[in-house]
Amino acid sequence: MKKRYLVTGGAGFLGSHLCERLLKDGHEVLCVDNFFTGNKQNIVHLMDNPYFEVLRHDITFPLFVEVDAIFNLACPASPVHYQFDPVQTTKTSVLGAINMLGLAKRLRIPIFQASTSEVYGDPEIHPQPESYRGSVNPIGIRACYDEGKRCAETLFFDYHRQHKLSIKVVRIFNTYGPRMHPQDGRVVSNFIVQALGGQPITIYGQGSQTRSFCFVSDLIEGFVRMMNSSADFTGPVNLGNPDEFTILQLAQKVIELTKSSSKIVYQPLPQDDPLQRKPVIDLAREKLGWQPTIKLEDGLIKTIEYFRSSL
Ligand code: NAD
Ligand code: UDP
Repeated sequence: MKKRYLVTGGAGFLGSHLCERLLKDGHEVLCVDNFFTGNKQNIVHLMDNPYFEVLRHDITFPLFVEVDAIFNLACPASPVHYQFDPVQTTKTSVLGAINMLGLAKRLRIPIFQASTSEVYGDPEIHPQPESYRGSVNPIGIRACYDEGKRCAETLFFDYHRQHKLSIKVVRIFNTYGPRMHPQDGRVVSNFIVQALGGQPITIYGQGSQTRSFCFVSDLIEGFVRMMNSSADFTGPVNLGNPDEFTILQLAQKVIELTKSSSKIVYQPLPQDDPLQRKPVIDLAREKLGWQPTIKLEDGLIKTIEYFRSSL
C-alpha cells in the first residue's frame, strides 16, 4: 500500500539511498534535513519526482507534519563531524528523538530509529550480539554520539512501554558506498579519496583494529524489511556485514583495487577508538530473513567508481 514516509536526515549518505528506495517502491517521501553533513547533490536526482518533498528543518525543534511512518536518521555519523559540535550532536540524538517520538505519538504511527554499533562502545565481547550492554566511556570524545544514541534508544523503549508506540530500532554497523561525504573522515571514504589522489593512506594506530563493512544497498534492504516486520518486533536488531577486516587489510585492498601508488603512513590512534567490531546477525536472519549479499571487494569497486566520477 502506498504510504507517506518522513525520512529525517534524508539528504545524507544513508538517508538519500533510503528516499530513493522508498520512491522506487511507489511511496511518497518527505525528506527533512538541516544540511549539516548532507547536501542537495545527494538528492538532486529525486527533485523532479512529484512524490518527493524536501523540508529544511533541524529536528532539535518540534515538527508538525502529517505522515504515515517515520524513519529517524538525522545525526552526523562520522567521528570528525559528530565531534565538530558535540553539544549539537547530543541535542540531535536526544531532543531530535523526543520531537520525532512526539510526532509519532500524536499521529499514532510507527517510528524507526537509526541506532548504531557505537552503543556497544569499545566492546569486551566479540562479536557483538544485541544482548551485550556495551562498554562506553561516558565522558570521552565519542560520548556525545554514543551516549546520545543510547539515550535515544531509552526514549524509544519508554515511549513504546508508556505510550504503546510502535518502534523499530536498528543498530547499524559500519556502512559504506556511493554518496559518502569525501571529507567526512570515515575510513572507507578517506582511504579511497587518498588512494585516488595519490596521497598517503592514513592508518590510525597500527591498523590492527577491526571493523566489519556493510555495503549501503544491503543495509537499506534491512531497513525496509525492519519497517515492514510484524508490529511486535521492536528490535534492537543488528544490521551489518559480519565479514571482519583489520584496517590495514582495508588499506591494502583499496590500494590494490585503485592501483594506487600511495604509501601507507601511521598516525596516532584517536581516544576511545574501538579495537574490534563485528555484528552477530542471527536475529536479523531469523526475524527479517535478512543477510548481506555484497562482498567487501565488490562494494569497494562500486564505491571507487563513484569517487572517481565525482571527485
Ligand atoms: P550522514 O552524516 O551522511 O547523514 C546524516 C544526515 O542528518 C545529514 O544529511 C545531516 O545534514 C542530517 N542532520 C544532522 N543533524 C540534523 C538535525 N539536527 N536536523 C536535521 N537533519 C540533521 O550520515 P549517515 O551515514 O547517512 O548516517 C545516517 C544515520 O545512520 C545516523 O543517524 C547515523 O548515526 C546512523 N548510522 C550510520 C552508520 C554508517 O556507517 N553510515 C553507522 C551507524 C549508525
Ligand atoms: N581510521 C584510520 N584512518 C582514517 C580514518 C579512520 O585508520 O583515515 C580508523 C579509525 O581509527 C577506526 C576505523 O578506521 O579505527 C574506522 O573509523 P571510522 O571513522 O570509519 O568509523 P568508526 O567505526 O571508528 O566510527
